[in-house]
Amino acid sequence: MRRGAMLYEGKAKRVYSTDESGQCIIEFKDDASAFNGIKKGTIADKGIMNNTMSSYLFAMLSAAGVANHFLERIGEREMLVRRVQIIPLEVIVRNIAAGSMSKRLGIPEGKVLASPVVEFSYKDDALGDPLVNEDHIRALGAATDVEVATLRRLALTVNDLLRERFSSVGITLVDFKLEFGRANSMIFLADEISPDTCRFWDTATGEKLDKDRFRRDLGGVEEGYREVLGRLLSGSAQ
Ligand code: UDP
Repeated sequence: MRRGAMLYEGKAKRVYSTDESGQCIIEFKDDASAFNGIKKGTIADKGIMNNTMSSYLFAMLSAAGVANHFLERIGEREMLVRRVQIIPLEVIVRNIAAGSMSKRLGIPEGKVLASPVVEFSYKDDALGDPLVNEDHIRALGAATDVEVATLRRLALTVNDLLRERFSSVGITLVDFKLEFGRANSMIFLADEISPDTCRFWDTATGEKLDKDRFRRDLGGVEEGYREVLGRLLSGSAQ
């Protein structure tokens, strides 16, 4: 597998073409950003940890029948994936109120929600990824109604699978963000699943083990990421 031209560089990842037209390589960087790029920094070994965790979780989801872009972990920071056309929506699932939901609706952080909440944001940095509903999504032409229903169903399935896996290692899955893509008339889960894109709280102590440590200057950012990865991989081959 030969790495070709860089197709895209984002805040935390670079995407490269390969000599196979249907595949690309994602490289995970140590760079971190928050608040739509206003806060920037680096987290030591984040790229390695996020690649390892995402690869592990995508493989687990594949085994459970959730179609996703992951093909193979090909290096410390690199993952080989199916090339998809990313749907310009962030699909957020929340089990417990936190972050922007707590701010927007005045629900105290930590309140367990009666049932999981699925939200959609329109992926547009210049607009600050605004929250949108199904009517907005249709007006924007971002996805069809059938696709939105599929995204919602897949997001809730992923929530069930991840919640159970993390709860088995004493971690509460508070909320997370997913991205999906289209390829061959199918929808694939894409992007990454890591402490950059999920809120993880230690179930016993409530300690935050995710990017909120970076966003809120809580310290011990690498240690939080390493703790989640270590618990997930303990007892399984890396
Ligand atoms: N999230 C993300 N990327 C974004 C926005 C949110 O990965 O651009 C994740 C975030 O890590 C959290 C969940 O989605 O796990 C919900 O985030 P929220 O809307 O509360 O936004 P935040 O408080 O991070 O601004």
